[in-house]
Amino acid sequence: MINIVLFGKPGAGKGTQAEFLKEKYNLTHLSTGDIFRFNIKNETELGKLAKTYMDKGDLVPDEVTIQMLQSEVDANPQSAGFLFDGFPRTLAQAGALDRFLESKGQQITATVALEADDEILVQRLLERGKTSGRPDDQDEEKIRNRYQEYNEKTAPLMGYYKDQGKFYAVDGIGSIAEITERLSAVIDNL
Ligand code: AMP
Repeated sequence: MINIVLFGKPGAGKGTQAEFLKEKYNLTHLSTGDIFRFNIKNETELGKLAKTYMDKGDLVPDEVTIQMLQSEVDANPQSAGFLFDGFPRTLAQAGALDRFLESKGQQITATVALEADDEILVQRLLERGKTSGRPDDQDEEKIRNRYQEYNEKTAPLMGYYKDQGKFYAVDGIGSIAEITERLSAVIDNL
C-alpha cells in the first residue's frame, strides 16, 4: 500500500497530475479542494462554512478539514492507497494525518512536491480563472492571499516531511507528460 502526498503551491498542477497518477498507481485521489467545491455546489452545511473561507483565499479551519478528510479515507476501506492532493496544508493537519494513518497500521510513503516560480503560477491561475468558474482564481488579491497562506502555514510542511526522510521535489515546469514522468520516476523508486 502506498500513500502519497502531492504537494505544491496553488496552480502548480497537483490536480492535473493527480488524474494521471491515480490511474497509473491505482490510488484513491482525495482532493480536499474538490470535496469542498462539491459541498458548495450541493449547498451542504459544510459547503456553506467552507465557502466563507475559500472565497477569500483563506484556509478552511483545521478541525473541519481534518474531520472531512478522515471520513473520506474511512469511506474507502478497500483502497490500495491514497493520493492526497491539497492536504495536509498545515502542521496540525500533517500531524493528525500521521496519527490517523498510524491508527490503521498505515503511513505516508512519500510527499512529492511540484516546484514552480510564484509569478508563473499567479499568471497560470488568472488564466485558469477565465474558464474554471472558481471565484478564488479570478481575483489577483485572493490569489496573492492564497500564496501568503501557503508561505505561512503550508511551506513548513516541507521541513516536517524532510525530517522524516519522506520529501521529494520535482520541477513543475514542462509539459504535462514530462511532469508525470518526473513524478513517476520518484514513485517508482520508493
Ligand atoms: P485547492 O483546490 O486545493 O486550491 O483548494 C481551494 C481552497 O479550498 C483553498 O484555498 C482553501 O480555502 C480550501 N482548502 C483546500 N484544502 C484545504 C486544506 N487542506 N486545509 C484548509 N483549507 C483547504
